Amino acid sequence: MSVYLDHQAAKPVDSRVISEMTIYLNQKFANPASLHCDGDEATDALSEFRRKVADFINAPDPDSIIFTSGATESNNLALIGAAMRNKKKGNHIIISEIEHISILNIAKYLERQGFEVSRVPVDQYGIVRLDKLERLITDKTILVSISMASNEVGSIQPIKKISDLAVKHKILFHTDAVASESVMPIDVQQIPVDMLTLSSNDIYGPRGVGALYLKKGVRVNPIIIGGGQERGFRSGSENIPGIVGFGKAAEIMKAEINEEAARLKVLRDKLIKGILETIPKSYLNGHPEKRLPHNAHFRFDYIEGESLILGLKDEKIAAATGSACSSKTLEPSHTLIAMGLLHQEAHGSLMITFGRDTKEEHVNKLLDKLPVIVKRLRLLSPLTPPDLIKKNNEVNE
Ligand code: PMP
Repeated sequence: MSVYLDHQAAKPVDSRVISEMTIYLNQKFANPASLHCDGDEATDALSEFRRKVADFINAPDPDSIIFTSGATESNNLALIGAAMRNKKKGNHIIISEIEHISILNIAKYLERQGFEVSRVPVDQYGIVRLDKLERLITDKTILVSISMASNEVGSIQPIKKISDLAVKHKILFHTDAVASESVMPIDVQQIPVDMLTLSSNDIYGPRGVGALYLKKGVRVNPIIIGGGQERGFRSGSENIPGIVGFGKAAEIMKAEINEEAARLKVLRDKLIKGILETIPKSYLNGHPEKRLPHNAHFRFDYIEGESLILGLKDEKIAAATGSACSSKTLEPSHTLIAMGLLHQEAHGSLMITFGRDTKEEHVNKLLDKLPVIVKRLRLLSPLTPPDLIKKNNEVNE
């Protein structure tokens, strides 16, 4: 097994979660819609674990949690559901330029359905420009959707201020909290969002399950029609083992999040300092302070991100160039371009995301291997200026 430093793409399922789930796979397997005692048991499990997910984000009413098949579906339900529900009020939606690809593509779909979408720009650190956001709002705006934090460069958005703006202009506000949910506590009573996307795997629960928080009174049109489960917002027999796992993961995360975030921040800061000090012409992407405690995102002049990943792979270190969901495209990251980087700069990126299994020795191994790999790649590149090769040699010798 590699030194795994790609936790934004996938996380292992916590063994405490697995033990809780197992019984619901083969013993307590009934459908909560059934009227017999076994069905009642499934209904009880559904309520108990829905309550745990609600508690995780301090939602007063467990019914505000709508279980889905994952964050992509939650984002679809939030954006398409709200757009369709409110189309008589207006047809304008605002997202940011650096949203996750699921939001970007849903927005394109809505444009094809006749909605107008504005994309609010970000600054050089990947933080949404609040001044621009307010200027984009019109009397036709029905929804703003901006993530809590960037899933790529880890910049934390001014969510409270965005939420205040949405309240002031009486617009629905949705936030995708997936990138931050394992390292930043969420309190929907402190930040009164209307809708919030959660994923189970991002807090060490199973994949294939997620949730959309819908504040009391907020209505969206369902996008999956059928037997009327989840108060009619999301039909289909409930994935009880998945929901149990998600609820257990949420309970554990709530108890451990502050301590874990503080631990990861120390490791992250060690890595950032070490890389920037030992590798010439290396830079941190994203905000130096307002960033997720488990995220370090670098770029290196005269280096291709993909070659770095292959070099690290040879050393059994698993890292990424950016978002896993966009990794199949050859285009540079839309987030880095929105932050003002040139195409060649965006192509030289490395994204490191830590998790519960990350230890200091993993950081040390990366600090040990990466400078050597960068040096080797630069020696091979015809673009590397001779003075940098000289500097590289001085630093690494
Ligand atoms: N939003 C964000 C911020 C993500 O990082 C991801 C991917 N983990 C998603 C949405 C989509 O999640 P999924 O692929 O589980 O539906």
